[in-house]
Amino acid sequence: MNSLRHGQDTPLPAPLPDMALRPEVSKALSAVVPCFNEEPGLEALIKRLSAACAKAVGDDFEIILVNDGSKDGTWAEILRLSETVPQLVGVNLARNHGHQLALTAGLFLARGQRVFIIDADLQDPPELLAEMVAALDAGAEVAYGQRIHREGETWFKKASASAFYRLLQRLTDAPIPADTGDFRLMTRQVLDVLLSMPEQHRFVRGMVAWIGFNQTAIPYRREARFAGDTKYPLRKMIGFAMDAITGFSIAPLRLSLYLGLFSVLVALGLGAFVFWSWLANHTAPGWTSIAIIILAFGAMQMFCLAIMGEYLGRTYMQTKQRPLFIIQAIHQGKTPPP
Ligand code: UDP
Ligand code: MG
Repeated sequence: MNSLRHGQDTPLPAPLPDMALRPEVSKALSAVVPCFNEEPGLEALIKRLSAACAKAVGDDFEIILVNDGSKDGTWAEILRLSETVPQLVGVNLARNHGHQLALTAGLFLARGQRVFIIDADLQDPPELLAEMVAALDAGAEVAYGQRIHREGETWFKKASASAFYRLLQRLTDAPIPADTGDFRLMTRQVLDVLLSMPEQHRFVRGMVAWIGFNQTAIPYRREARFAGDTKYPLRKMIGFAMDAITGFSIAPLRLSLYLGLFSVLVALGLGAFVFWSWLANHTAPGWTSIAIIILAFGAMQMFCLAIMGEYLGRTYMQTKQRPLFIIQAIHQGKTPPP
């Protein structure tokens, strides 16, 4: 683990490195923080986060800060802070991999029995950890923060996020909760399943929801950033939304099925009209046959695309190699459940 503290050389080949390389459980709690150009806010983060962790589990925690190819002094700041905070583990990625992969790298290295995910910008209060711990103590496997209010964000960000979560709920079968980020606490059991999913385009909050078990929402108010600007410009937001939708749904591919059915109906209607025009002698010679050919072939093509879309979608979902089901416990007769 020492090499992780100081070394720059922990490459993370995609999708996921060999599971055998995962460190063993040796802490009560790991906090995982992806950091991209977060230098100015890190000190304040560590102060509040380590206080919240210490309150929950005493000394028995680690804070994994993943530097996601920052252009500012984030890595130097992580090294500086780790001089005084022994629980700090710094992970330096080779380049910017994006929020979700940086997070995954940190999760992979987590040694905690429970794992707390939080952003570096203090928009999500670390102190909510206490409530999340209580929820897990009461039997939940995942406790996620649900934003009832967002401070200091543009109306465009709020409106697009709200529309996005609602669209996502309509398009997917997974019970992905609205207004929920990656801010959450989960058990090792859930983490193990999450890391067993080898897919490349990762939408972590959706994957955790998809896994199931007992998940509890903890409402909270989201603050403005402590320092710096959002690291999610529109371009990244769109990419993120595409990862979420395509990762959990083949609905966009199914669009051609509906378009196909629609074009068959249109072709039938227009075909009847074309035929009637021909009977009534309203047509230029040749138009009838051309119109019917275009309509019929257009509809047929749409339909064939729909069929291909279905197969493509199924193949795509299969390539994700997700587990078919996840068993929480097996109980038999009078033996205590495992
Ligand atoms: N982040 C990252 N890599 C990126 C973009 C963002 O690790 O390429 C981190 C960022 O440092 C922060 C978290 O992901 O800790 C969420 O980003 P941000 O706060 O900018 O997103 P927002 O809250 O505006 O949606
Ligand atoms: Mg933020």
